[in-house]
Amino acid sequence: MQRCSPCKPLRVLRDAPVEGMEHSPGLATRCVHGADAPVRSGAVNAPIYASTTFAFDCTADLLDVVEGRREGDLYTRYGTNPTIRKLEARLASLERAEAALAFTSGMAAEAAAFLVYGRQGILCIGDAYGGTLSLLTEQLPTLGFPTRFLLSHQLDRLDTVLEQGVSLVFLETPTNPSLTVFDIRDIAARTHRYGARLMVDNTFATPVNQQPLSLRADLVVHSATKFLGGHSDITAGALLGPRALLKPVAAWRSSLGQTPAPEVANLLMRSLSTLVVRVERQNANALAIATVMSQHPRVERVLYPGLLGFPGHELACAQMNGFGGMLTLELAGSAADAARMVDKLRLFAIAPSLGGVESLATLPYTTSHHGLSREERTRRGISETMVRLSIGIEDSADLIADLRQALE
Ligand code: PLP
Repeated sequence: MQRCSPCKPLRVLRDAPVEGMEHSPGLATRCVHGADAPVRSGAVNAPIYASTTFAFDCTADLLDVVEGRREGDLYTRYGTNPTIRKLEARLASLERAEAALAFTSGMAAEAAAFLVYGRQGILCIGDAYGGTLSLLTEQLPTLGFPTRFLLSHQLDRLDTVLEQGVSLVFLETPTNPSLTVFDIRDIAARTHRYGARLMVDNTFATPVNQQPLSLRADLVVHSATKFLGGHSDITAGALLGPRALLKPVAAWRSSLGQTPAPEVANLLMRSLSTLVVRVERQNANALAIATVMSQHPRVERVLYPGLLGFPGHELACAQMNGFGGMLTLELAGSAADAARMVDKLRLFAIAPSLGGVESLATLPYTTSHHGLSREERTRRGISETMVRLSIGIEDSADLIADLRQALE
């Protein structure tokens, strides 16, 4: 049985530093105000620009914008809409990225980035969301994109694979559903040595718990449907990074029609205001639950980076601010026992997705990883007795009581 971590929910946010700046707003302040000065007069909230198009005084003025001599709003699908721009500035400020692009979903953001940067080969390290794996194994290869995969125990082969030619390395950390933690700084350094780029899916960790750009990742992708949105009511995505890297991705976003509607952009912006308070609460709840569950006789293993016995614990302490709101229980017994336990939950809803204020439970083989064959799931260590929990902001005592009654 695992020892439980004495870790407090981790201390002050370690935020990406700003060179040459003595005091810059902290993450919670940026979640509310972005990089802008707070509003001093008038409406506290910016209006939603529910407009697909924007008018100009004259043709010459329109041409200045179309031909890039001046920045201006033009057409919402291009992302040139004030509500979308405001959201993007807020998203960029979260991880101190130079720029950000908002998308209709996390998959849209990933797909656009893969199309631009994966032509010479994409290497996916570790577990990933099932939808990402389908894109990499089923769709992109049909367009001639070479895709490669290394599981966590095969990382010693990273340099060999990079040498063979890969233009983009992709990883999630912590991973879905095994919560494996990868060393972003080390993998970034090795990736750059071979001229490739590193893109990190920071959905599970959130900008509160982890800032991959400050650890030298080139791009960060989020399913904003999850913690960033936080209320299970919007589907959206985000890509963060240097302006020069995002520019060609914006062109694909525009051509594929992957820009979110201004109404969705506004809802996401509202959610970002509470990101830090929600995630800190989710971190604390998840740590409390992991600690109790690791002592439960019906639980064989708790996969959670906050537990001392967990293999990625020390690395998580070094590279993360908190351990996150996701954890996986490996139950004793059969697949049917695990399904029975999930069916007995009353406060946790049985639903895919994650990161909302409400707690959710799923068996990954029935949802996020249903598309993989049983052999592939076994190879990836995803068993049918794994219960993945997305921890919300309810009282932890109630969540623990619910898990206990379902287990007993
Ligand atoms: N990345 C991770 C880690 C996810 O869990 C998901 C969805 O579950 C995605 C990306 C895809 O996000 P979306 O559903 O917003 O397209």
